[in-house]
Formats: sequence, structure tokens, C-alpha cells
Amino acid sequence: MNLEKQLDKYAELAVKVGINLKEKEGLLLSGNEAALPLARKIMAKAYEAGAKHVEFQFRDDQMSIIRYLNGKEYVFENVPQFKIDSLEAMYKENYHQLFVMAPDPELLKEIDGELIAKDQKTQSLAVAPVMKYRMTGITKWSIVAVPSDAWSKSVFPDLPLEEATEKLWEKIFEATRVDQEDPVKAWQDHNANLRKYKDFLNEKDFEKLTFKAPGTDLEVHLADRHYWMGGSKDSQAGDAYVANIPTEEVFTTPHQLKVNGTLKATKPLSLNGKLVDDFGFTFKDGKVVDFYAEKGYDVLEKLMSNDEGAKYLGEVALVPDDSPISNTGILFNNTLFDENASCHFALGRAYSYAMRDGSEATQEELTERGANYSLIHVDFMVGGPELEIIGYEKDGREVQIFTKGNWAF
Ligand code: ZN
Ligand code: ZN
Repeated sequence: MNLEKQLDKYAELAVKVGINLKEKEGLLLSGNEAALPLARKIMAKAYEAGAKHVEFQFRDDQMSIIRYLNGKEYVFENVPQFKIDSLEAMYKENYHQLFVMAPDPELLKEIDGELIAKDQKTQSLAVAPVMKYRMTGITKWSIVAVPSDAWSKSVFPDLPLEEATEKLWEKIFEATRVDQEDPVKAWQDHNANLRKYKDFLNEKDFEKLTFKAPGTDLEVHLADRHYWMGGSKDSQAGDAYVANIPTEEVFTTPHQLKVNGTLKATKPLSLNGKLVDDFGFTFKDGKVVDFYAEKGYDVLEKLMSNDEGAKYLGEVALVPDDSPISNTGILFNNTLFDENASCHFALGRAYSYAMRDGSEATQEELTERGANYSLIHVDFMVGGPELEIIGYEKDGREVQIFTKGNWAF
């Protein structure tokens, strides 16, 4: 594998398909040390594409730990206002945001879970007012991922580091279609395919879906005037951008109060650097009334105690078992990849853009229509080769949507 050449293609994909950066637009780019080789190439491609300015924000993993270990209590109760103001100023001045992440699945494993939860709650509350720029499509944004040493080791624990890193790169390039001759073209085709499913589901406007698989028997009503999304989104300026690379999902908003039955996760969940595994939930009238987890029970419990909405679903997403990520045959230990290997649900906030006229609606209106509100949004996987999904139209007619884990049509 010629890593330099692949990195060029990856950077081009991020700028042209992920952000779809236009002339005279600004780019806010961020990443840690491991992200630098790709971030530099992205900067080059962004200026080539006519960026007015590329701002790079460095995020050091070790400094994140130092802050947790040494900060006084009040450090985690406050976000400096200038950080929020500068972010809003950039969004207002036509800057778009690209995150290069090099995750360490166990980075925060020695840090007190309560402190992390408190910190994240503070951060979420602080950025909530400016999240609307991204939520309503004023700001285009995208995430791409690169290996960190810890990530490579977690995915391939039996290989020496160098080999593990090379192998993870290969899997990332397969999952993101960078290994294909023309990744930009491959993504145009992929987006068109996702649009086909999305349009079908929107036209049917199902009342409810049922999910059946080992450990899962769940009925999920969809929110009133829910909207199916998938692949690229259009910004308010009319440019198609892809918020997650990779993405394989078609997703919408479940009705917060109309979910009943049991649900078993089919893959582990990496949460704040901690693993939750062998877990599942029981829902009654939308709320989690019981749950289990062989590993990471307390992490899951804390997650759901963030606020009332953290105990309700905010997303239902369909991903065929036969897709590039699933076909890599590995668990990436990272939600960006693993959620796109599998059908999933999210606990927490619904996306307003996964509701018709959602961007213009107030939170009260969205809540009225069944869209959940929370400060968190955390995906967990439920797909697999045995999953059967049936859609029920408003007049009761049944449509098989998934059979044996894949699209039934
Ligand atoms: Zn999703
Ligand atoms: Zn999600």
C-alpha cells in the first residue's frame, strides 16, 4: 500500500465530498497528533479548492488527561465563553467544520466516569445555542478518522504496532471506499443508492416498524411527520455534504413515547473510552424500564441518568449487513465505523432534520410530534444476519423492509 497516495485520495474525499468546500469558504479543522499527516493534506486540498482560510485547532490527548487529573471541580462546571463566541463567529463567517479524529478507545479509562459525565454535560449545555448552525445546515461539517497507536492496538491486539497500524489503515480505506479507483465517484454512486431507499421510506410514511432477532422483539412507532435521511445532506446554500465518512445508514426519528418491547445490542459500545458489552434494554411507552450489561453496566447507567431524554430513543437507523464496513469483518471499536456496519438506535436527542420541516420547528413542536430531546445522543448496534424488519403502513398493510439482515427489496 502506498500510504502517501491513499492519504491524498482520503484528503480529497474529505474536502470534496465530506465538506464539499466551495471557493472563499473557511475551514475549521481539528485533530490530535496522530491526525497531523492527514490534516496537513486536507489543508493543502482545502486551499487548492479555494478556501479563504483554514484554521487548525490542535487537541492533545495527554492534555485532556492532564486537565481531568489536575483541574479543580469548577473547571468542569464552566466553559470559557470566548470559546463559544469564537465558534459562533466562525460559523457566522461562513466557516465549515472538519474533524479528523484518531480515537483512543481507552483513553479515559482511569478517569472517574462521574467527572467525565459532568464535564460533557457542561460542554453540551454550553455549545447547545451554537449547535443550531450545524443542525440546520448553515454550517457544513464532516468527520473522518485515522489510526492512533491505541486504536490500532485495540483492533489488532495480536499484531506488532507497525503492522496493526498498516492493517487498520487498509480497513479504513476499504470502509471509506478510498481503496477504489475514484473514491469521489464511488461516493456519488453510493449517495444515489442511499437516496433510493430514503425516498421509498419517505413515500411509504410508515406508522411503525417491528424488529425481530435473537433477544430482540421491538415495536417502534415513528414520530409524526418523521423524515428519513441518508447519505449526503444539503446545506442551506444548497451544497451536498456528508457529515460522516463513512456512512451507510438511512435513518429517521422514532416516536419517543411509542416504543415497546426488548432490544439486544449486537456489538459492544465504546463510550468515553470505556467498553459496554453484552447489553440490552426493555422499553415501555418509549422509556427504558430495565436494562442489563455484562460489561460497563455503570457506564450505561450514568449515560441514561444524564437527563430524562437519555432514557428514550432519538434515532432508528437501517444499515444492511452486507456493506463495506460489515464486510471488513472486524470490529473497529469506534462508533463512526461500527454504527455503519449495523442497524442501530440512539438513546437521546432526535435530529431535527430527521423530521419534516424540523429545522424551522420549535423544540416544543418537535416534542409534540414525538421527537426526543436530550443533551446526549449515543448510538448502539442492533443489526445482524438474523434481523427481520417489517414496516406497517397507516392502513395496516405490511411491507418487509429487511430480511436476514439486508434490504428486502
Ligand atoms: Zn445513525
Ligand atoms: Zn446516531
